[in-house]
Amino acid sequence: MNIDNVTYSTFTGWIDPPTDVRPSLDGDLTCDVAVIGGGMGGMATALRLAERGQDVVLLEAEFCGYGASSRNGGQIASVPGGDLRLLSLFYPKKVPGMVRVAENSARFTEGLIKTHDIDCDYEPNGLAFAAVSHGQMLRTRTIAAILRRAGGRGTVGTSEELGIPRSFVGGMREAVGGALNPGKLSRGVRRALLASSAQVYEQTKVTDVTRNGSKVVLSTPRGTVRADKAVLATNAHSGEWEITPKRLSVPMWIIEVETEPIAPERIAALGWSSRSGMITQHQVMEHYRLTPRNTIVFGIRRIERGQTYPLPTKAPDRGTVEELAGAFATRFPTLADVAVERAWGGWIAMTSSFLSIAGQIEDNVYYSIACNGHGLAQAPYVGSLIADLIVDGSRHEDLDSIWAKEPKFPPFAMLGPLGLRTVWAVDRLTDMFNGSRRRALRAARMR
Ligand SMILES: Cc1cc2nc3c(=O)[nH]c(=O)nc-3n(C[C@H](O)[C@H](O)[C@H](O)COP(=O)(O)OP(=O)(O)OC[C@H]3O[C@@H](n4cnc5c(N)ncnc54)[C@H](O)[C@@H]3O)c2cc1C
Repeated sequence: MNIDNVTYSTFTGWIDPPTDVRPSLDGDLTCDVAVIGGGMGGMATALRLAERGQDVVLLEAEFCGYGASSRNGGQIASVPGGDLRLLSLFYPKKVPGMVRVAENSARFTEGLIKTHDIDCDYEPNGLAFAAVSHGQMLRTRTIAAILRRAGGRGTVGTSEELGIPRSFVGGMREAVGGALNPGKLSRGVRRALLASSAQVYEQTKVTDVTRNGSKVVLSTPRGTVRADKAVLATNAHSGEWEITPKRLSVPMWIIEVETEPIAPERIAALGWSSRSGMITQHQVMEHYRLTPRNTIVFGIRRIERGQTYPLPTKAPDRGTVEELAGAFATRFPTLADVAVERAWGGWIAMTSSFLSIAGQIEDNVYYSIACNGHGLAQAPYVGSLIADLIVDGSRHEDLDSIWAKEPKFPPFAMLGPLGLRTVWAVDRLTDMFNGSRRRALRAARMR
């Protein structure tokens, strides 16, 4: 692949920044509920609180939709992130709840799109677990069985049966969800939020969150907000404050790239008739999806741990793009001459258990890390459930199933720099083994 003319962005390739960024907070305010962070999670929380008659203030450091919510792959998943085999081994009781949360999250986000009439190029064609080898196909079948036992659904088949490119062995298509333009989705939710009764202050970074008697006090450079309750929805950035539970999550940097437009007949020749987005079954996935502009957006394969807060503003480096481009050429040999046009990245929060987590600090501060790379649908759903908890005083069973009873979390065994390098090396070793096995099988067939 040609990577000589890539535009490296510190925002996203999906959409430009808004032209109507709201002014920052200047002065002191009081309110019922303050929400910190204007991603899909924070916006959905504030929107729901406003709809339910609460006096709500949302504070966002840049503009709503600045973070991961506008930068992701745009895959609405209905199966939890993380390796279901490991999750069912270590947290067998949690898996059915996680599976239900994931499916309900996809449905909730589809509802959000419909209710607010958001034009975000949504194609409800399900996300496919795509196997690049027979080993990965075996893993997919095991995951499909675990999913079924936990009450979830997925269709297993060959690449022809699933309508995914013939260069993949086969896989499993999730029952709900699909692919959309996350920049347009975030912009649509922002529009709905700005039209609601919520007070939204952009360009307003919360520098500290403290509790003062029965109130929560949010400090910003030019004012304070005193609220009865607060929701922390800053995703990977939440480790900046003392109040955040220790070891709640670690920040990880991941990237996406987009090809130049590809001739429709070349795409048709791939056999990708379902247009389902695909995630491979490596420990650290690769994902590939088509867009309405006849490009392919793909990404991840390598994750980098953030070391210090505040997290830096970053653009991808050429080396990481080159590695992703190499993988693309292997998965899509007939498109190996296509150029990469754009690259961007973003911060996600990973929990040590790989489970989505929500919880409460004392009686009036709530947090949600419904992420692990699958938060596009989960973050807004969990946010809306937290809003309902604040108003009703009782937890929905889906919120209950990811609720941290105490804000105490184990250390991050595999998520240090050495652990991440090892996981990456294991993925590359299995790729090499599968590559040589494929070549040997092809040679045997020709003899
Ligand atoms: C490259 C990439 C690909 C991904 N692909 C997918 C995918 O295909 N499918 C999927 O389901 N998920 C995917 N994800 C994950 C998904 O995007 C996130 O889980 C989800 O968007 C999280 O939403 P959020 O609202 O919690 O966080 P964010 O969208 O990150 O929002 C947090 C907000 O908080 C603001 N903020 C931070 N600090 C402060 C502060 N001190 N004061 C005020 N505001 C602050 C930030 O500016 C930001 O706008 C991907 C993520 C990335 C980065």
